[in-house]
Amino acid sequence: MKNVIFIAPPAAGKGTQSQKLHEKYKYIHISTGDILRKAIKDKTQLGLQVKEIMSQGHFVSDDIMIALIKDTLTDINKPFILDGFPRTISQAKALTQIFNDLNIKDYCVIYLDVKEDIAMKRSLGRLVCPECNKTYNKYFSNLKPKVPNICDKCNSELISRSDDNEKSFKKRFENYLNEISSIIEYYKSLNILKEINAEKSDEEIFCDIIKELNEG
Ligand code: AMP
Repeated sequence: MKNVIFIAPPAAGKGTQSQKLHEKYKYIHISTGDILRKAIKDKTQLGLQVKEIMSQGHFVSDDIMIALIKDTLTDINKPFILDGFPRTISQAKALTQIFNDLNIKDYCVIYLDVKEDIAMKRSLGRLVCPECNKTYNKYFSNLKPKVPNICDKCNSELISRSDDNEKSFKKRFENYLNEISSIIEYYKSLNILKEINAEKSDEEIFCDIIKELNEG
């Protein structure tokens, strides 16, 4: 399978679709948000550096993010999904350079398109398992956990992300809008962009993604 790069607004469903690809095709799921949240939880130097920035919905600097992704990709030898990177045009260009350096050729960029009001509902209702990272949503019946607030998979108590509040969501969406058009133009010019309407059900979106991956 080819490597996948998701670009999308916050709470568009990148994490959910990545989980599905991981479960069905054993993709390695590289979520920059998850890596940073783990660094915060473990109180590493990186975690201390980014904690405040993230909770306010700001972007972590390009230098930090590019170094992080370079390190992560250097050790990967299976098909992977990039979820949350690139988020700026500088990151997108740096990623092309990293792929060239690491001789990674087979990849496509999937743009999950969703409007702000739907993304906000997904963000504000999102619940996450702090142990296995599985995500749920209290506002969508098919995404609720079987037992309220408990992870179906590992029985841990679910939490809300500190940046899933209205103020932070709006900042994240604004940051996204500032960058997305140049990223889309960039990938269109490389002829590797696939656009998917992400306002449908998870299953429908997943089918569309598989179709795109199989079409080559
Ligand atoms: P996510 O889990 O993808 O929604 O990311 C959560 C937060 O992590 C973002 O709102 C940013 O603060 C930070 N972050 C994750 N990936 C990046 C990136 N590629 N560039 C800048 N900040 C990032």
